[in-house]
Amino acid sequence: MDHQLRRTRLTARLHELEVDALLVTRMPNVRYLTGFTGSSAHTLVGGAETVFITDGRYTEQSRHEVPDVERVTALHGFVEPVVEQCARLGVTRLGFESNGVTVGQHQRFHDALEAVELIPTGEEVERLRWVKDADELDLLRRAQAATDQAFDDVLELLSIGVTERRVAQALEQLLRRSGGDGLAFESIVAFGENAAEPHHAPNHRVLAEGDVITLDFGALVGGYHADMTRTVSFGQPAAELRKVHDIVREAQQAGVDAVRAGMMGRDVDRVVRSAMEEAGYGDAFSHGLGHGVGLEIHEGPRLSREFDHELPAGAVVTVEPGIYLPGLGGVRIEDSVEVTDDGCRVLGTSTRELLEL
Ligand code: ZN
Ligand code: ZN
Repeated sequence: MDHQLRRTRLTARLHELEVDALLVTRMPNVRYLTGFTGSSAHTLVGGAETVFITDGRYTEQSRHEVPDVERVTALHGFVEPVVEQCARLGVTRLGFESNGVTVGQHQRFHDALEAVELIPTGEEVERLRWVKDADELDLLRRAQAATDQAFDDVLELLSIGVTERRVAQALEQLLRRSGGDGLAFESIVAFGENAAEPHHAPNHRVLAEGDVITLDFGALVGGYHADMTRTVSFGQPAAELRKVHDIVREAQQAGVDAVRAGMMGRDVDRVVRSAMEEAGYGDAFSHGLGHGVGLEIHEGPRLSREFDHELPAGAVVTVEPGIYLPGLGGVRIEDSVEVTDDGCRVLGTSTRELLEL
């Protein structure tokens, strides 16, 4: 990972933001810029120098993980060292991450930084993170490969009487066995009518003949998140659910076909939403089409009605339409794709056909 290059790209933005330095406090952004994997650190990125600030628990770890940056250990919170470093570097206008600072933190910085003006900034580091480099793509592919393998393996465990929770536990073990460091997020396992809840939390519902089964899960590898959904059927599904699976599968393919660099996120969403509406299920598709994945499970760029930015080549986004029918069940199919100049590459290999177990 070329952290120095990433910091250089960020410092190139400082002039336009009219700040001398940017205080990065969101942990995925700190990790992206420095390689630090711990849970507590700030990074002050200035034009001439970057200073990494962590607390005593991480002094030794950061010596290994962040060898190429000035490091400071905060003894009594982050305010004091930030004030000191701003004075040392001559910072008079300090950008902060609007989405990474609480009102309380802002107040403390404001009170302590007498000679420094605090300037709110938007998603500066997040925007850099939209485009994945080769190392990031490799980690995302490895996370997806572990996820595909776990999907294959978990199908064996789907039998009469097994509970959603048991399957969710098994998925975690299978993801680790197939090369994942852990779960990218708490797995969604939904049987039958529970599949009508897009984000169902697995419970003691027992699998029965004729249930659809929605599995939304992914592996974490090197900090990078895989995210895949498949809906399969245990025995013969209800006729409407079989029909709905066809509609979702075709709509998802239309979405995958529409993704390419330069396309606006909202336009990809519209392609799929129109297909759902034409099929008579527009109202049953109750969420956005997709989201970026990387160091966070949900990040930019997004495929949703409001997202009016163009997708850049190198972004990795999910395409995940769903139809939810209360009382009956639901179908969602989700893949992650790498955006390219002339289309996209699907990262995974799992079939999207309706498997009848
Ligand atoms: Zn998902
Ligand atoms: Zn997703």
